[in-house]
Amino acid sequence: MSTTHCPYCALQCAMHLEPGPDGNLRARPAPFPTNRGGLCRKGWTAPDLLTHPDRLTTPLIRHNGHLEPATWEQALDTAAHHLDHLRRTHGPDANAVYGSGSLTNEKAYLLGKFARLALGTSQIDYNGRFCMSSAAAATNHAFGLDRGLPFPLTDIATAQVVLLAGANPAETMPPMMGHLAAPTLIVIDPRRTPTAQQALDHGGLHLAPRPGTDLPLALGLLHAARTAGHLDHTYIEQRTTGFRTTWAQAAAHWPERTEEITGVPAHHIRAAADLLGHAARNRSAYILTGRGSEQHATGTATAGAWIDLALALGLPGRTGSGYGCITGQGNGQGGREHGQKADQLPGYRHITDPDARTHIAHLWNTTPHDLPGPGRSATELLAALGTPHGPRSLFVMGSNPAVSAPDTTLIKKRLAALDHLIVCDFVLSETAQQAHVVLPTAQWAEEEGTMTNLEGRLLRRTRAQNPPPGVRTDLQVLSDLAPRLGADPHHFPHDADTVLAELARASAGGRADYSGIDPHHLTAGHPQYWPAPRPTTTEPDPDRVPSTPRMFLDTFAHPDGRARFSTPTHHGPAETTDTHYPLWATTGRLLGHYQSGAQTRRIRELATTDPEATVQIHPDTAAHHGLTHGARAHLTSRRGTMTARVHTTPTARHDTVFVPFHYAHDQAANTLTQHALDPTSRMPEFKVSAVRITPAPDP
Ligand code: SF4
Repeated sequence: MSTTHCPYCALQCAMHLEPGPDGNLRARPAPFPTNRGGLCRKGWTAPDLLTHPDRLTTPLIRHNGHLEPATWEQALDTAAHHLDHLRRTHGPDANAVYGSGSLTNEKAYLLGKFARLALGTSQIDYNGRFCMSSAAAATNHAFGLDRGLPFPLTDIATAQVVLLAGANPAETMPPMMGHLAAPTLIVIDPRRTPTAQQALDHGGLHLAPRPGTDLPLALGLLHAARTAGHLDHTYIEQRTTGFRTTWAQAAAHWPERTEEITGVPAHHIRAAADLLGHAARNRSAYILTGRGSEQHATGTATAGAWIDLALALGLPGRTGSGYGCITGQGNGQGGREHGQKADQLPGYRHITDPDARTHIAHLWNTTPHDLPGPGRSATELLAALGTPHGPRSLFVMGSNPAVSAPDTTLIKKRLAALDHLIVCDFVLSETAQQAHVVLPTAQWAEEEGTMTNLEGRLLRRTRAQNPPPGVRTDLQVLSDLAPRLGADPHHFPHDADTVLAELARASAGGRADYSGIDPHHLTAGHPQYWPAPRPTTTEPDPDRVPSTPRMFLDTFAHPDGRARFSTPTHHGPAETTDTHYPLWATTGRLLGHYQSGAQTRRIRELATTDPEATVQIHPDTAAHHGLTHGARAHLTSRRGTMTARVHTTPTARHDTVFVPFHYAHDQAANTLTQHALDPTSRMPEFKVSAVRITPAPDP
């Protein structure tokens, strides 16, 4: 039996893997603080993909328009030939790299190094740009450092009140609800999600703002909290700066005006402010945000407004209270720390920082001058592919942008315009279907590595079985490919512990310091939360494991030690409804599926429960548009059309429909979504699109 962690979300539930009667691995929950012995149905069924008939076990090369089996030598040589040719002909930025928040820390680090050292390109970014980059930007501004939850998840279980803004853990990470059983919940969500229903069932509140109005709602709550005398003025004075600037915005958002903007009744705003404020006085309240508040063209400002509310109530940096962001992807936290972001070097350092460039260049045996500078963010990178000034090849690892990126009709055209598309994956995802070379890679139970969960806690992923014949690990692929591009093979090891040791050195002294992370500590079960700087004494105490479970207790990470309020200004969604597109569409996840669905749509039990895209809509709205429960409908935005099965629900807002984003082709929700980007985080506005809905014929 082997013990590891789930391949999917950032809760990173622990699981035992052992062979079942048929010899195939079976999962069962293992004790661990985040999942407390629970797994959701995605975790229980995760091993089914290891032996799935769709599993790729042979490299593929496109010939005459068709993907055909090839040897590894042929596939790697073909990929390297095209990458090298494009680099020589058009310069290093002709090649681009696209990573993932699902990659282990070691893969994220080596992928960034592969892009910048082996290819010499600045054009690298990853799908985490779509995940929580707005909250990361807001947190960096507020606290000087971004760790999703700067406290152990178990801390929230004893809180009196938890406010969840744009998060639905009852479906996205169900075992987390065990930590939310005792606190009274205030849920901010346009939908009556299962999480919102739990809040109402247990004496809490559900505030359902119009899509795109979370920011004014946060300001309205701040206004109501101040009017009711809940603000912690001593904390504001001693531990923060900038409150007056924030208040200049919030002063205009008294509850009745906030009701006009958001649609949330003023008495609900006052009730929520009182509930939260009383718990804050007892230092027993948390504010947690998720994608619902972040995936907006104003996502950074919106996350900032929630942090401002937390600061005004005196929550962050104290035991028993705080602000945190619930990371989505399995390694959403570690994925953004080790250098696969367009603007970052390992250690969560900015790529333009001269000291960071010198440090990394020295480690990589190159010069700061030869290290590329910042590249395009994910959406901008994908939109530039195959254009006259954009990259002409793309190397994809662990991601499926043909389904997960905004405006997928355009993205698929851009992928098709590439001279060369190389995809590393274990199934033929929608992106891999467009590739010129497909490299079959190992799955989570077949490799070693580390993940950093939503608490900033390092976890060890252990191999339960070897990959099937014909399959290589992602690290092996990078190790095989880099020397073919002229890189020193010693710089591209494929042993995970060797890569982790180098990553730790690269991060030393950085914002996310992993230099004291030791795989043996992780194996022995010692918790290690970053920052985990290596002890400076020459004879470190073997019993003292570097780890920081709770951050900011004495000081925030800005030079003056104070947290910073923001200047949250409401601009509203990037597009508006009109007579042609009269409804708001918002997107999100279902209990049974994960991200683009490339994995979970293939698992029979999950596909049976949620076999097709549905559109949740109020029955009155459905009737107004000639639709009934169970009918098929077309949804059309200014970018494209998708098809979904109508699911009427009387708790839906009359002006808003919800579609899950796990489906492909004519059921792809991102056919509707748009390119409008947050100016700071470059996160797209997935959560608000203007649409119309019309009846569709049954096929
Ligand atoms: Fe746990 Fe998330 Fe995996 Fe479900 S998908 S078992 S909540 S880690």
